[in-house]
Amino acid sequence: MGETQVIHAAEALLGDGWASNVRLHVADGRVARIETGMDAVAGDTCAGIVIPAPANLHSHAFQRAMAGMTERRGADPSDNFWTWRKAMYAFLDALTPDDVEAIAAFVQMEMLEAGYAANVEFHYLHHAPDGAPYDNLAEMSERIAAAARTTGIGLTLLPVLYQQGGCDGRPLGAGQIRFGNDISRFERLAEAARKTLASLPADTVSGIAAHSLRAVSPEGLKACIALQPGTPLHMHLAEQTGEVDEVLAHYGARPTEWLLENASVDARWCLIHCTQMTVEETRTLARTEAVAGLCPITEGNLGDGIFNGVEWLASGGTFGVGSDSNVRISLSEELRQLEYSQRLRDRSRAALATRQKSSGRVLLEGAAKGGAQAAGRGSGMIAEGAWADLAVLDTGHIHLEERTRDMALDSWIFAGDDRLVSDVWSAGRHLVQNGAHIHHDSITARYRQTIRRLGSRL
Ligand code: ZN
Repeated sequence: MGETQVIHAAEALLGDGWASNVRLHVADGRVARIETGMDAVAGDTCAGIVIPAPANLHSHAFQRAMAGMTERRGADPSDNFWTWRKAMYAFLDALTPDDVEAIAAFVQMEMLEAGYAANVEFHYLHHAPDGAPYDNLAEMSERIAAAARTTGIGLTLLPVLYQQGGCDGRPLGAGQIRFGNDISRFERLAEAARKTLASLPADTVSGIAAHSLRAVSPEGLKACIALQPGTPLHMHLAEQTGEVDEVLAHYGARPTEWLLENASVDARWCLIHCTQMTVEETRTLARTEAVAGLCPITEGNLGDGIFNGVEWLASGGTFGVGSDSNVRISLSEELRQLEYSQRLRDRSRAALATRQKSSGRVLLEGAAKGGAQAAGRGSGMIAEGAWADLAVLDTGHIHLEERTRDMALDSWIFAGDDRLVSDVWSAGRHLVQNGAHIHHDSITARYRQTIRRLGSRL
């Protein structure tokens, strides 16, 4: 790169609030200079409303390819998360590295088109269908990286440690053998995965994840914490009541309680699914500065429960959103669902808004800031020196007629959808233009072939 591009925004949501007639100078992927109250000059890329594009902080890319296949009631009288998980295990049995690359590229493209600039991939599908490692231990990690090379999305790759089938240390079940590693093989895998990222752009981040307190032993968790100090550290925390019961029975403490007692949780951590926490746990965890990794669409789809966002924000907590199972990839809907879950529970309106900031503003700014923290990504707001992670809302769209500033965000999130997102830059890479990814057709064609080969297997 090296050359500077200038984006002229009619309005922009900057780190210190809204500004009009903004010229954003982007160089080497970063916002180099911000001028406000300036007309566009020849050569500027003219945009409507420019907002920070968040990182999608939690994804299992391969699950996108089974979206829509698990919405029937099976023989089990109580169809729930655990029956869904069985179906997911059956589905992933057939996936090859080529499939995973094609699916990941499609998922990343959809994320960009929805207004996300980055993808935090919580990556646990490591091995061949029989559980044997590929010749290259990090084969599947390389495929995620290859997808990011195709799409240009900002990637934070989190290789996941998955050791056991439950808290009692039972062996992995048949559907889990592709995930499994002992600590020493995982350390080698994570190091190999980190090396594969070297050929990606400078905003790429390598981190670590422990799957959950069910799937990782206390020693495994310790190893994850020690592995790549200072990088993002993620874990599924408390998604399902069944999971809380299992951890309580085995460790004598609920997952959040146990974690807070046994690890120094701080801003490096992102805890995924904080749906099953008491008010006291919510307050205590919020104060650690860890990010609550929320996946409202998936949590709704899987019937997980409702995160206490009102209490979390009142306690100064940081949050971001992710698309997790990728049953649907939509930034506006993820934010809307988060807000609506609070309204439905409390029979309230504007549950997360403040006197100064509307619902949409609190949701977007929160997701941008927390998403960047969880991704280990120097962005999260439009500010000089930050990566240029930018999305444009199309002011020509009917849903934005006569709407400005906070009300424009609210109209996008509550009245509109991702069709209002016209352009997206990830670390200065202009990947979505006029509503479509620059390689939309080729990425979609390859994904279609993969889906045809897989068939409707469930
Ligand atoms: Zn997950």
